[in-house]
Amino acid sequence: QQDTRLARIASAIRVIPDFPKPGILFQDITTLLLDTKAFKDTVDLFVERYRDQNINVVAGVEARGFIFGPPIALAIGAKFVPMRKPNKLPGEVISEEYSLEYGTDKMEMHVGAVQPGERALIIDDLIATGGTLGAAIKLLERVGVHVVECACVIELPELKDLNNYIPMTITWCIEKL
Ligand code: AMP
Repeated sequence: QQDTRLARIASAIRVIPDFPKPGILFQDITTLLLDTKAFKDTVDLFVERYRDQNINVVAGVEARGFIFGPPIALAIGAKFVPMRKPNKLPGEVISEEYSLEYGTDKMEMHVGAVQPGERALIIDDLIATGGTLGAAIKLLERVGVHVVECACVIELPELKDLNNYIPMTITWCIEKL
C-alpha cells in the first residue's frame, strides 16, 4: 500500500524542462494538487510521520510550503507559521539572508509567532541545495525553537551541497529523485 501511494505521488508530479531558465528540470507539484488521492496521500504520509512527535509549530516556506503546511498543521494539532520572502509580513520580523545560485535572498518570520522551547517541523515542496531550508532552520533556532525535522515532497540528491550539509541530515522527503 505504501508503494502504491509513493508511485501515485511520483507520477502526479509534472516535470517541465528549462523552467524558469534553461537547464532546470522544474518539478511542478500543481498537478499533484489536481489528483485528490495523490494530494491526500502526500499529506497523510507527513501526518503519519509527525503526528506523535509533540510538534507545536509547522513552519511553511513560501510559496509551496504554504500549500502542504496548513493541512499537516491542522492534522497534527500544531500552529502554522509562514516563512516569507522579504517585505511581505506586516508586523515586526526577524530575517535571515541566504545564498542562491546567483546572489542572495532573505527569509522573514514574525516576531512572537513562536516561543523558545517549541518544537518545529519545516515544510517545503522540494530541497535542492538546502540553502532555503538552512535559512528557515537558522531563523527558528535563533529564537530558541527546536527544529525536529525539515520535510519535503521531493529531494534532488544530485544538487546536494556540502555547505548545506546540516539541513540535509535532518531532512525527510517522500520522493528522492
Ligand atoms: P534550495 O534552496 O537550493 O534547496 O532550493 C529549494 C527551493 O527552490 C524550494 O523552495 C523549491 O521550491 C525551489 N526549487 C529549486 N529547484 C527546483 C526544481 N528543480 N523544481 C521546482 N522547484 C525548485
